[in-house]
Amino acid sequence: MITGAGRGIGRAIALCLAKEGCNIAFTDIVLNDQVLATEAELKATGVQAKAYAADASNFDEAQTIVEQVKTDFGTIDILVNNAGITRDGLLLRMSEQQWDDVIRVNLKSAFNYTHAVVPIMMRARKGSIISLASVVGIAGNPGQANYAASKAGIIALMKSTAKELGARGIRVNAVAPGYIDTDMTQALPQEVRDSFVQRIPLHRAGTADEVAQVVLFLASDMSSYVSGQVIAIDGAMG
Ligand code: NAD
Repeated sequence: MITGAGRGIGRAIALCLAKEGCNIAFTDIVLNDQVLATEAELKATGVQAKAYAADASNFDEAQTIVEQVKTDFGTIDILVNNAGITRDGLLLRMSEQQWDDVIRVNLKSAFNYTHAVVPIMMRARKGSIISLASVVGIAGNPGQANYAASKAGIIALMKSTAKELGARGIRVNAVAPGYIDTDMTQALPQEVRDSFVQRIPLHRAGTADEVAQVVLFLASDMSSYVSGQVIAIDGAMG
């Protein structure tokens, strides 16, 4: 199960896991043409796939969607908390709305879905939860106090739940991408994007597929003794 997987990194994760044979349930805010195209692409790989319209920041909706996914798919082995937004601005010019929206969509959504999925994983005595943090959640970034705080919160949520759930056979990890070429970063001015590339020792943006490969590792038994970790995917930027 993946939140916000209609496009971008979430979509790449969905396709990467589907190619390895995982059935994929995913959410996005509305089922538009892009989201339905992703669903069709996933089905074309031969796995069971279904898109659900849900605002990941809504606690009650998360419970309902997870129940629906359990009915449709039987169980949930892997949860990827991917849904996220940016509402950038320097702190003194940041509105309460910008702050609340980012904390709600990025951080509360991860709580909502982890909370809803964990009882299913506990009964199965196994599971892997992976959340999308960010290098800015570790290092901070001017103009992104809300976003950086939400991603630091994701890391603290992940580390705490890893400690709570380890005895139940559930692993919990996060990935911290750096500058990845997606619609989210295409929205940044060209000079900001150029300055990122200058600061990256590998001298290029990462791709959504490069993030997906690390998520695949954390989702699979290849990482069976890895829990409570943040893996940076940032071309040595951090
Ligand atoms: P994106 O904007 O391309 O895709 C985000 C997806 O989440 C979209 O499909 C969007 O509709 C969906 N979404 C937004 N709000 C939602 C909500 N309330 N409920 C459900 N779905 C919602 O972004 P992306 O670059 O693919 O980012 C994916 C994740 O990776 C985010 O958590 C982001 O913070 C994180 N990340 C991205 C980068 C980067 O450089 N692109 C770097 C670090 C971390």
